[in-house]
Amino acid sequence: MNGKIIETVKEICYLGVTLESTGGWAKQKAKVVAKGKQALVAIDKCLARMPHMRINILENVYEMVCESRMMYGAEIWGLEEGWKEVDVIHGRFCKKVLGIPRVGANGVAEVELGRDSRRSKVLGLVTKFWLRILQMDRDDLVRRCYDWQVLNLKIGGWAKGVKEELDKLGLGYIWQDPQGRSVGRTWEILKERCNAIERQNVFAKIREKRSLALYGEMKSGWGRQGYIGCCTRVEREGWAWFRAGIWKLRGMRGGMDGKICPLCGATESEIHILLKCTETGRWREQLLRNKWFTVGEELAFKKILSTTNDTEVRDLGKFLYKVRCKRQVKIRNLELPLR
Ligand SMILES: [Zn+2]
Repeated sequence: MNGKIIETVKEICYLGVTLESTGGWAKQKAKVVAKGKQALVAIDKCLARMPHMRINILENVYEMVCESRMMYGAEIWGLEEGWKEVDVIHGRFCKKVLGIPRVGANGVAEVELGRDSRRSKVLGLVTKFWLRILQMDRDDLVRRCYDWQVLNLKIGGWAKGVKEELDKLGLGYIWQDPQGRSVGRTWEILKERCNAIERQNVFAKIREKRSLALYGEMKSGWGRQGYIGCCTRVEREGWAWFRAGIWKLRGMRGGMDGKICPLCGATESEIHILLKCTETGRWREQLLRNKWFTVGEELAFKKILSTTNDTEVRDLGKFLYKVRCKRQVKIRNLELPLR
């Protein structure tokens, strides 16, 4: 060009986005996901140093250091399969906040925190970018590329991806008639639809899992759980461990069939842990004050878990955390001879 030879390269980094000669985005995705993982490690360190950091501050830190990096350039690569990695990292963050181990279900952690999957955010960025392109002058290079893609939808490409996503969400009418749509409002519509579908999927999964049977019963609507806001980290971890059925994921090697309480040897269930285990009676007396214990088990169980009194919520969290730790120590000791 202009008498100079232009070098042919396989990839080039332009404004922080890696462009590949094949037109794919694998390298860019790998790059942002690696950055996201790095940031998650930084959040870990932050948590280790300040274990009592308030949860909303923690979420802000996540948005700023982790998600802002991962979403970089998502407008252009977000339609590819790889966006799911972003969601995996988000799920990992949610579990971290709740003290849920990595083997726990991402969906439950997100439900507890009332945080949606990242899909709507990624698609929102794509749509926003799309509406911007439509407002560009027809001579603009970006617009010309886009128009060419629309005329050649069969070949594939970014424009086809946008159309397909909108169709999948039942929002094909936006594709048909995009002129004059406000970017903000369109984003809202898309977010709502996308989240509604994702939530349906999460609840379907919860219903399928046996370890989450009780959880499915307790939880009917969306939104952040009451205990999240008023509890300290330890209390929160106690609640999450109990509610999300983590206590069932014991990972016992050897003979135990997972139905016997590691503390007292009785048959184990949610009701056993909360109301009956003889090894934790002292804490139960102290923290739950045996308040509902004269009524039937089922009713007591429901009453205790559905309290909205902050002090009671926190005390229950403390109780559950203590039980959680005691059981973990016992399980570890039981496992030792097996090694
Ligand atoms: Zn027991």
